[in-house]
Amino acid sequence: MANAVIIDGKAVAQKVRNGIKERIESLKAANKRIPCLAVILVGNDPASAVYVRNKMKACAEVGMLSEQVILPADTSEETLLDAINKFNCDENVDGILVQLPLPRHIDAQKVTKAILPSKDADAFHPLNVGLSRLGEPAFTPCTPSGVIRLLDEYGIEISGKRCVVIGRSNIVGKPVADMLLARNGTVTVCHSKTPDIAEYTKNADIIVVAVGRAKMLKGDMIKDGCTVIDVGINRVDGKLCGDCDFDSCAEKAAYITPVPGGVGPMTIAMLLENTMRAYELK
Ligand code: NDP
Repeated sequence: MANAVIIDGKAVAQKVRNGIKERIESLKAANKRIPCLAVILVGNDPASAVYVRNKMKACAEVGMLSEQVILPADTSEETLLDAINKFNCDENVDGILVQLPLPRHIDAQKVTKAILPSKDADAFHPLNVGLSRLGEPAFTPCTPSGVIRLLDEYGIEISGKRCVVIGRSNIVGKPVADMLLARNGTVTVCHSKTPDIAEYTKNADIIVVAVGRAKMLKGDMIKDGCTVIDVGINRVDGKLCGDCDFDSCAEKAAYITPVPGGVGPMTIAMLLENTMRAYELK
């Protein structure tokens, strides 16, 4: 029996989108320019194509404009950089994102650095990474921002709490850890070389799991009343599941995110938010 409050990521994401929709409606009413997100997809990876389609759909739903460029898998790095530069120079484009992963012959770091930091909707550019680390105004990556927003929406205190982040990727684990620290959490980061993860999670008030290993966090690894934020997306027997064993964790946690319907919907909502912010900062 689940005791935990199940954090409704879909509802929070909808709230974020509604806020953006309202802001765009008032721009329309004032005959102002409408924000625009440009998305570049290289190749024909089916999962990436679905992600891109969902992002375009989300733009349309809030009234945001979007532009899409689909390049063949054998596109040269130079052609991709040219496409980015075209959007960098386009006054009507506010946010730019290049869907990852890229084909192997393209240097993803070089591509990330080619996006103008002021249009960096995914916030992977080293300037934005550095500025946010320094606690200065910057764009912040979508999934980690979504995690923090969920905690805030449910009134879950971060300051002074023991936070454990499992996973240290540049796109999720590290930025989530930084954001929790910036909010005065006491943060421990665990990873594949951490010998006994339960030793840390058992004392944690907030656990963020971003590993990509189905059901790795079990109920007997957490303490009563904690919060579990599950970023993982795994497919087991054709069904989506997260990195935590939902049933056993929900028995002990006070708050928990489901997969699907937890962090996932927040990622696109925060992408729209970043694009809106890029527009407003112009
Ligand atoms: P990465 O593969 O880049 O990073 C995984 C991290 O988990 C690494 O730091 C790795 O450690 C660590 N790890 C691997 N195995 C273990 C283990 N046995 N014990 C502890 N730590 C381990 O993944 P991402 O950060 O990109 O994504 C993580 C998960 O989140 C995936 O399931 C992904 O699909 C999902 N995701 C979901 C999003 C959403 O919108 N909901 C957005 C982005 C990702 P080390 O550094 O030592 O190798």
